[in-house]
Amino acid sequence: MARTTSDTDARRDEYATFAPTGETCPECDKPIAALAMCRRGTVERQSGPPVVVYRHSECAKPYLRTATR
Ligand SMILES: [Zn+2]
Repeated sequence: MARTTSDTDARRDEYATFAPTGETCPECDKPIAALAMCRRGTVERQSGPPVVVYRHSECAKPYLRTATR
């Protein structure tokens, strides 16, 4: 898996998937419906390992980059 360390945007979008029950979109703070299509991504923290997040497909659009890498 290729990764570039020059990527300064720590918020990454990875792939489309189904959200586990009870996930909340960190972009709009609204819950994601169970089994709704969403985008899985990670948010890197300074104090620990990256956290997996699920965003609505619409909310994840600014982070879509996997198509070019
Ligand atoms: Zn959202």
